[in-house]
Amino acid sequence: MVKYLNIKVKLSIDYSTFRIYCNNNPNSRKVVNIIDLKQSTLAETEHFVSKAGENPYRARQIRQWIFHRGVCDFGSMTDLSKSLRDRLAHIASVTCLKQIGKTESADGTIKLAFELSDSAIIESVWIPEEKRKTLCISTQAGCKMGCRFCLTGKSGFIRNLSAAEIVDQVICARKSVPGGRVTNLVLMGMGEPLDNYENTFKALKVITEPDAGLVGARKITLSTAGVVPGIMKIADDFPRVKLAVSINAPNDDLRNELMPINRKYPLARLQNALKTFPAPKGKRITLEYVMLKGVNDSENNAIELSEFAAKDFPAKINLIPFNPCPGAPFDRPDRPEIEKFRDILVNRGHNVFIRESRGNDILAACGQLSRSIGGRDTA
Ligand code: SF4
Repeated sequence: MVKYLNIKVKLSIDYSTFRIYCNNNPNSRKVVNIIDLKQSTLAETEHFVSKAGENPYRARQIRQWIFHRGVCDFGSMTDLSKSLRDRLAHIASVTCLKQIGKTESADGTIKLAFELSDSAIIESVWIPEEKRKTLCISTQAGCKMGCRFCLTGKSGFIRNLSAAEIVDQVICARKSVPGGRVTNLVLMGMGEPLDNYENTFKALKVITEPDAGLVGARKITLSTAGVVPGIMKIADDFPRVKLAVSINAPNDDLRNELMPINRKYPLARLQNALKTFPAPKGKRITLEYVMLKGVNDSENNAIELSEFAAKDFPAKINLIPFNPCPGAPFDRPDRPEIEKFRDILVNRGHNVFIRESRGNDILAACGQLSRSIGGRDTA
């Protein structure tokens, strides 16, 4: 839902291009969403506040409430004057996703479901490890890419998320998970982030803005199915973000079958794009390879994958045994087969890891997110 500012003429001229958004608040007026400003940097929020006739230093306080404390109701921002709170309530809003589900796995992984203003449902997954607390967020409701092994792809595409909806998954998760910590972020949930480039880029700007205190760029990994123009653009726009590419098939015939995007951007083009991705010391591109029994797990496939990964870009390979999901026509290979595949790659000089996905029992693992609440499909 996009509306436009409806306040005094002085402001409406300057802010007429800002998107208006106020989730789950049917009584709200047409207002500016603070998280969804053009860039939503501190400087831009200061500009907004001063345009509203207030001292710009108030911007820092407002952002503290939003980003650090997860408060989206101006009335609760008690260190602001009553008059400023009232004024903000008339001219501004903050996205506030409505959490409608929370499911915890036996391994501690937590899946959160959010309902958007148009009733679309998205999911985020929090994965706790000893040192890291990683949040996997969505960038679209559904997905257009249609990867055959992925439940999200099977559910179809609903719409792109706004930048504010992407950012708010982080803010809401911090309020909902034990200890409130999110140290790392992966854009690997529902949707293809590079198919929603503008909003993904804007969300990354907001998330990495130092005063927001959310997650630093070096702790963020963006995962793509291989949208070549997007890879080249993000390499320029956000070189500090890490890149993961979902490969899953080491030759074009098989990849065309498993991942329709390969018909548009075949492996050779993808390989060339990866060569352009900046690789500062110690930074490697992750090649994700979902292993499907009898489909992409042969010795020959391992050699083909090795040849793809041996080109001019530093890479590590993550082998992900397929996570069964309802109706999927695939199975996971047996452990000895997976290890044999890994050993071929290791013997050819690659860094290889076998990654068991977390949260399998709550359908929170890779490729299992859908429009579901607590594992119940609501589509
Ligand atoms: S694997 Fe990723 S890109 Fe492919 S359909 Fe699923 S969500 Fe979309």
